[in-house]
Amino acid sequence: MDQLKNHSTLPGSVRPLGFYVNGSMRDAGDRETLVREAPGYLVPVSEVTLCTTSDVDDAVAAARGAFESGAWSRCDAAVRATALLRVAAGIRERLDEIAYWETLETGKPITQARAEIGDAAGHYEYCAGAARMLHGETYNNQGDQMFGVVTRQPTGVVGLITPWNFPFIVLAERLPYILASGNSVVVKPSEMTSTTTLVLAEILAEAGIPDGVYNVVTGLGPVVGQAMSVHPDIDIISFTGSTATGAAVLQATTSNFKKASLELGGKNPQIVFADADLDAAADGVAFGLCFNAGQCCVSGSRLIVEDAIAERFTEMVKEKLARVKIGECLDPDTQLGAIVSKQHHEKILSYLELGTKEGAAVALGGGECEGLSGRYIAPTVLTDVQPNMRIAQEEIFGPVLTVTTFGDAEEALKIANDCQYGLAASIWTKDIDKALTLMRGVHAGRTWVNTTIAGGPGQPMGGFKQSGIGREGGMLGIEEYTEVKSAHIAIGQRTNWIA
Ligand code: NDP
Repeated sequence: MDQLKNHSTLPGSVRPLGFYVNGSMRDAGDRETLVREAPGYLVPVSEVTLCTTSDVDDAVAAARGAFESGAWSRCDAAVRATALLRVAAGIRERLDEIAYWETLETGKPITQARAEIGDAAGHYEYCAGAARMLHGETYNNQGDQMFGVVTRQPTGVVGLITPWNFPFIVLAERLPYILASGNSVVVKPSEMTSTTTLVLAEILAEAGIPDGVYNVVTGLGPVVGQAMSVHPDIDIISFTGSTATGAAVLQATTSNFKKASLELGGKNPQIVFADADLDAAADGVAFGLCFNAGQCCVSGSRLIVEDAIAERFTEMVKEKLARVKIGECLDPDTQLGAIVSKQHHEKILSYLELGTKEGAAVALGGGECEGLSGRYIAPTVLTDVQPNMRIAQEEIFGPVLTVTTFGDAEEALKIANDCQYGLAASIWTKDIDKALTLMRGVHAGRTWVNTTIAGGPGQPMGGFKQSGIGREGGMLGIEEYTEVKSAHIAIGQRTNWIA
């Protein structure tokens, strides 16, 4: 296809998407479809199939069948490791194509998309090694007549519900970890961004992952996602998205007491002390705000800055933000991309209106970017923000920074923690005591000191409070998807109960 050869221009036609069950791509048939418009260009690019609950049943049956066959669930870890390495190689081979579609459907800048796809391959490589490392425990401390063993085994069928902001990398932060121990999977991508999840099906098949281990059911959350959440033959749900939908999913999983792993919203503080490297901190704050146009669960959207430098530092951040390159998503120079949907665009604008009503001042931006073909919002800085205002408490999910000030470390921590969320936090200071005290005290599953939105596959991620349950990534991310079994093994002659 033309568009696969040329990744710098818009596709010449709309790409029809099927869904993937038991190793086969199925057409939409007589199912309804939905046309996806590229948010950066407002032209149609793909057409997604709206699957039904019976498609979910088929996919779950395929996943269960594959699991029970043992072809993946009981094979040598070396086989899994080899296949996962092949997946990583396949992703790298098709990096341009995957990044292109990710950019078209999400509106993120192409350079960022390319980096994400490369990072995604890294997760499969990490899990290839980790698959071989996964092990249980032995207890050789129970006397001559007893030996204890704890094993880990794959749980079964995992339902994976992913969001529109990072379709491929969020999948990569979960799928290889789920596959590493031998589980089977049914994935539901957001209906806005399904293409790359389906491209991955081809890569997994070519890598030798058996049919039925990976299935993709596209469509709407309230139909497909809901059917997965209540499905009696799904053992775990992994959900990434909003806290409100996460709560509905959690409620639905109680129908068969599924395990649930939820990564939800965040309102993440950027705490900047007067003794920080202020240029680096301003750069980090600008990046943490603009990354994925702020449509990022770990976006650093709450600047909490020490009184003494607040005015100067806010000016420094504004100066950095004014230089952010906003533009065509496919232009390699673009740093800030488009907003994913009309509905979300309006939601961000409504928060800007609310901010003014609540008494905040617009120090930079404050609305749409003119002169671009898609839906863009300018990096925005709101000052005179009190910590209890809705704009400082709720997830806006756009490039909107609220600025609040503090007097000392204790107050900074109080403001940072006075929030329903607890996903991520960044601390900027040269003082190691302050850095460690704040890192320990802040309510967040991911913390950064003198950097932001950094890290790779090795360390777990997840949220405190209403930001989620469970952890993804690292060895913990693999263990989340295993069942633990305890065995006591008697040695020698039994001392009989009945003499
Ligand atoms: P949702 O939380 O509604 O969507 C996330 C995923 O859940 C999508 O695949 C969605 O499918 C699916 N879903 C929706 N309803 C259900 C349901 N009843 N049962 C199971 N799955 C369901 O996010 P939105 O797209 O509506 O975004 C709303 C807000 O959520 C954003 O403004 C942002 O604040 C936050 N958000 C946070 C994310 C994060 O990374 N933490 C990611 C995305 C959003 P479908 O798209 O088909 O509805």
